[in-house]
Amino acid sequence: MRKEITCTVCPRGCLISVEGNETAVESIFGEGCMRGRRYAEAEFLNPVRILTSTVRRTDTDLDVLPVRTAGPIPKSLLFEAMQTIKAVSVTPPVAIHEVVVENFLGTGVDLIAEKSI
Ligand code: SF4
Repeated sequence: MRKEITCTVCPRGCLISVEGNETAVESIFGEGCMRGRRYAEAEFLNPVRILTSTVRRTDTDLDVLPVRTAGPIPKSLLFEAMQTIKAVSVTPPVAIHEVVVENFLGTGVDLIAEKSI
């Protein structure tokens, strides 16, 4: 398996070519530095993302609460995460960084509020 990965660690944006299988990287080409090499390895084997979204408020239909995961979660869970978030609602008051969903999707990462309401 081969993937072309654009490094987002710095503005140079190197295009890094990675070959390997689901458990190991066999070769990397095109990285400009070791930080990019580590990024490309992680992105190839287990890509993760911080998810940002919004949840409904029980007190109004005219506004929503912005939320995000407190850390990165597997990219493979993003679709399921968005489906799950659709069913989440909050009732004010909610403080910024308050946990909205603990251990979101069993990832060990909480879904937290991005502002106070
Ligand atoms: S590989 Fe290194 S130089 Fe290239 S974009 Fe990534 S961090 Fe920047």
